[in-house]
Amino acid sequence: KVPALTSASVPLESVRSTKHGVHRGMSSVTIPPPACMLRPLEVPFRYLFGPGPSNVPPRILAAGGRPIIGHMHSEMFGIMNDIKKGIQYAFQTSNNMTLAMSGSGHTAMECAVFNIVEPGESVLVAINGIWGERVAEIAERMGAKVHTLFKTPGGHFTNAEIEQALAKYKPVLFFLTHGESSAGLVHPMDGVGDICHKYNCLLLVDSVASLGAAPLLMDQQNIDILYTGSQKALNAPPGTAPVSFSERACHKMFNRKTKPVSYLLDMTHLSNYWGNDGKPERIYHHTGPVSGFFALRESLAILAEMGLENSWSHHTEIAEYLWKGLEDLGLKLFIKDKDLRLPSVTTIAIPEGYDWKELLAYIMKHHRIEFTGGLGPSVGMVLRIGLMGYNCNKANAAMVLAALEDALKQCRKSKA
Ligand code: PMP
Repeated sequence: KVPALTSASVPLESVRSTKHGVHRGMSSVTIPPPACMLRPLEVPFRYLFGPGPSNVPPRILAAGGRPIIGHMHSEMFGIMNDIKKGIQYAFQTSNNMTLAMSGSGHTAMECAVFNIVEPGESVLVAINGIWGERVAEIAERMGAKVHTLFKTPGGHFTNAEIEQALAKYKPVLFFLTHGESSAGLVHPMDGVGDICHKYNCLLLVDSVASLGAAPLLMDQQNIDILYTGSQKALNAPPGTAPVSFSERACHKMFNRKTKPVSYLLDMTHLSNYWGNDGKPERIYHHTGPVSGFFALRESLAILAEMGLENSWSHHTEIAEYLWKGLEDLGLKLFIKDKDLRLPSVTTIAIPEGYDWKELLAYIMKHHRIEFTGGLGPSVGMVLRIGLMGYNCNKANAAMVLAALEDALKQCRKSKA
């Protein structure tokens, strides 16, 4: 047992004799070691069947647990080169400017906006859930002129609506969420890139919740900047975020008049760190998350082994099994049109007469399963169930259905 230290018992500027020798003139600590730090780490097991993160398979956990090497070692650069190739495959792009951010999905979101847009420039953001709201705020904070296209959660935008707004606001950047995880919607992408280019606008797409689960082809669909997260269908731990920039996007961001507001997210530095700038030497910029990159590499390897198309069809097959089971339980799916449902994150309209928070708490307590409620504008509208990557299989879908059936029975009179 470690004896408690009190400030009264340790004079400042003391001469202390310790097991390792005498320290002269050092202030003694006045804050004792916290009791929680003297207990071992405890992490419960949870079925992560919400909108993310999803459970990490042992193979990826093991990769992340390998002894680390230096972030500037040649072997690390080799691993980063592999990651770049893995992202190019996952995104279906041959963009040279492809890398992984050190940080979560938001880091890639901010990186894209900060590097592409200069203060005072016009940006158009499609808001049909929380992610558009976030991007609009990020762009506003860095001084862009932000215009929005708006739908309530579950809504989507026609190409005619997008074209009208592009003609009106003449933005340098248009943002659209491919997999709107707060609403459970997968947005149609065909033709959007062409319309943007007709108006000399770059297209930025968020695929954090959809990559690997719903078809998306960066080059063929003329997407200029695409980003995702590591913790959804890729099944790596949270903390790294693949991103890619087209030639057009590079032309805009490397011919700016002003420096991007963030040093950490400045693509001039990041492109050098990832060996994308053609320079012979890589110069220290920041210390990347080495273990996170190991895990990300493994998750991209699993996707490459499975094949993108197989991954897409597998997610659709399991989602359809889940949707049918949910309807058999008498539940209503929030997105009516099957073709607009995101296979990775299913939204259910909150069943009448139930307190959604109580349903979630019951399922967590009795089944160790995480589902979540809505997010941002969809709070109070939906329950969200995610079966992504490693978690996406019939046994887990059956577990989801059994847990919900049980909760609907046990929580029946929960609402006044
Ligand atoms: N975009 C979408 C569609 C998301 O689902 C999420 C995460 N829920 C994010 C962006 C933000 O990602 P992160 O939490 O990794 O920053």
